[in-house]
Amino acid sequence: MSHLHTVKELLGIEEDKPRYECDCMDCEFLGCYEKYDLYFCTADGPELVFRVPEGKVTWISMDGAPHSKQPYIREAYRLAVQQGFLS
Ligand SMILES: [Zn+2]
Repeated sequence: MSHLHTVKELLGIEEDKPRYECDCMDCEFLGCYEKYDLYFCTADGPELVFRVPEGKVTWISMDGAPHSKQPYIREAYRLAVQQGFLS
């Protein structure tokens, strides 16, 4: 076990975890941004998937994501790249 702690741990901030139910086997959780749970999904894609509290789900193709006007879409794209899903 490492005795090093991340800044988040020291500040008592929990790592991002999915907040809303996801019943898709092909969704990989990326992180949270504001009210959105961000996923990368290969079921019909690759696509970015956004889940919100009301149970609504939005799918966005990867193509326009880096240039989206919506910060949560750009953030999902950034996380997908960072976590190696696009390499
Ligand atoms: Zn999915």
